[in-house]
Amino acid sequence: LSDKLSGIFDKLTRRGALSEADVAEALREVRRALLEADVALDVVRTFTDSVQAKAVGANVVKSVSPGQMVVKIVNDVMVETLGSTAQPIDLDAAPPVAIMLVGLQGAGKTTTAAKIAKRLKERHGKRVLMASLDVKRPAAQEQLAILGRQVEVDTLSIVPGQDPVKIAKRAEETARREGYDVVMLDTAGRTHIDEPLMEEMAQIKAVSKPHEILLVVDALTGQDAVNLAKNFDDRVGLTGIVLTRVDGDGRGGAALSMRAVTGKPIKLIATGEKMDALDEFSPQRIANRILGMGDIVALVEKAAAAVDQEQAQRAAERMAKGKFDLQDLADQLSMMEKVGGFGGIMGLLPGVAKMKEQIASANIDDKMFKRQRAIILSMTPKERRNPDILKASRKRRIAAGSGAKVEEVNKLLKQHRQMADMMKAMGGGKGGGMMAKAAQ
Ligand code: GDP
Ligand code: MG
Repeated sequence: LSDKLSGIFDKLTRRGALSEADVAEALREVRRALLEADVALDVVRTFTDSVQAKAVGANVVKSVSPGQMVVKIVNDVMVETLGSTAQPIDLDAAPPVAIMLVGLQGAGKTTTAAKIAKRLKERHGKRVLMASLDVKRPAAQEQLAILGRQVEVDTLSIVPGQDPVKIAKRAEETARREGYDVVMLDTAGRTHIDEPLMEEMAQIKAVSKPHEILLVVDALTGQDAVNLAKNFDDRVGLTGIVLTRVDGDGRGGAALSMRAVTGKPIKLIATGEKMDALDEFSPQRIANRILGMGDIVALVEKAAAAVDQEQAQRAAERMAKGKFDLQDLADQLSMMEKVGGFGGIMGLLPGVAKMKEQIASANIDDKMFKRQRAIILSMTPKERRNPDILKASRKRRIAAGSGAKVEEVNKLLKQHRQMADMMKAMGGGKGGGMMAKAAQ
């Protein structure tokens, strides 16, 4: 499949901006890849629409092909859809904090309960009590007790004949009385969703008031994953999803579907039967699994970084010559946003401590980048090259155009002047100065 994708992408070798035809052709293959990865049909449609909107007209980074560029955009949209930031298990509540695991039979709830308990104990120093509310499957409660002994986490004593709601109550009381921080509730599953199961989950929820309700889903679950997640969410309300069996060759399409449809974060990934086989969710990793295009993504990122580098070098050369107009400042600001702020890029330059101080005193911080860039973008190219022509009426127009106040425009101009002076001073010294060296 990846070969097929690369094949079609290789055909797109023109440079420049991506045309609608380029994108349409590439997206046909992407659509196929997503369907093969069991991503739900609706999700595929919204997803490709979103890629299309982003890709058409996008500039192709030098030294990569338009096809590779589309892959990168597909990847970025996918990572964004999957949720770019990791969302750990939330324990921010009065103890004992209840965590309830729900899902179909065999999804991996019991195994995952023990894995999470082990992690909370080892990494967060929590006292955890596990309780099995599965009275359906013979020996289900013993299974959890055995895993508990294995990871050295306590399990609630087994009282034969108790129903799940009674066990949930007893778990809560025991945890409170004995000072546990966390109670893991491992529930029963079914082979498919039915009303009695949902009713049982709702009752347990009402008794235990879990702070987290995690849906445990096998990554191999195909198109059903969406219905599954939607049903559980509508009926019980989910706080997150745990994807299991990410160790097999399941393609992880379920993750994309469930996230897109429920909006619930995927919190953890289980990658095997061992008790340590539990990872933080990485959107990039799942995107790689679904697309199988990690290499191309890395290549485009490298090429893009090289272009940024060239841009930085040109800017540094201009600075060294004492030329630093508002367009240069705007370029710098957008570059800084990309590389993680002023602190990030300045840290890369040698001998920069003094300059950092000066910048701090000039009151330039990362949060202002966007606003400042908006102000500069409201100027005409001529004004950017030549700030001296900015008199009151032009400033008013620029302020209105960027939603800023005239004072902010003035402040920006003053900062630019300070920076330009500073650049000049640094660039003017013998041997080309610091900025010129940094550009070498
Ligand atoms: P439950 O019915 O939802 O409680 O599922 P179990 O926790 O009993 O797991 C069912 C089977 O799946 C067991 O044999 C587990 O060892 C296995 N299992 C659970 N999680 C994973 C995983 O991430 N990868 C693999 N390969 N097997 C898993
Ligand atoms: Mg179980």
